Amino acid sequence: MDRDSLRQYLSFYQDLGVSTLYRRLKTEEQSQTPMTALPGLAPENDTLLKILEDIGDCKRCRLHAGRNKIVFGVGNEQAKLVFVGEGPGADEDAQGFPFVGRAGQLLTQMIENTASKEGIPLKRADVYICNVVKCRPPENRTPEPDEMEICGQFLYRQLSVIKPKAICALGATAAKALLGRKEGVTRMRGNWFKWNEIPVMVTYHPSYLLRPYNQNAKREAWEDLKKALHFVYD
Ligand code: SF4
Repeated sequence: MDRDSLRQYLSFYQDLGVSTLYRRLKTEEQSQTPMTALPGLAPENDTLLKILEDIGDCKRCRLHAGRNKIVFGVGNEQAKLVFVGEGPGADEDAQGFPFVGRAGQLLTQMIENTASKEGIPLKRADVYICNVVKCRPPENRTPEPDEMEICGQFLYRQLSVIKPKAICALGATAAKALLGRKEGVTRMRGNWFKWNEIPVMVTYHPSYLLRPYNQNAKREAWEDLKKALHFVYD
């Protein structure tokens, strides 16, 4: 981590009321444990509103420079299922809500149509949807590791407040942030992993599924979602 990133990181913890941080030496066991991009710290009696207030007009990482709106997250605060994507795109940045563009429409269809076919009375508003980073990366590039780590604290807090029965990681960036794993989505999808004891299903990001040659992936994503929905709502 360079000097600027370290300064942003420390000021972030100060905002949370943490004044002293200790550097932990790595043991052999820790060095073999996959690192996630979500630093684990949540204040007591946290709420989504408090997190939103703490974000404020956030300038903790370089992504603030190109954003129009911070995209915090949307949905049911008591959701049993949370979807985590990568970061806002152009439509999300303009409107301030996650997954409202073409990929978002596909996600809504996937959730509602799959649930309806499986006999589960579920609408998009019943789940919670958010991203690893809350500001749009320039040219929709993948967020950098330091951006994911700085902003990841908000995601950590969101998930800790909601405490869903399961999380669905949409795409490689979300999987990496939550699970610290480097495998591609193709290898991880359809399988259960764990984030802080909460089961995580990894599947494709809906924007990947929009590409016309990815029909097979679309079918697989539907299977993954079916598995997640039955696990949570049966
Ligand atoms: S991406 Fe997150 S940490 Fe970076 S400026 Fe936006 S809200 Fe702050």
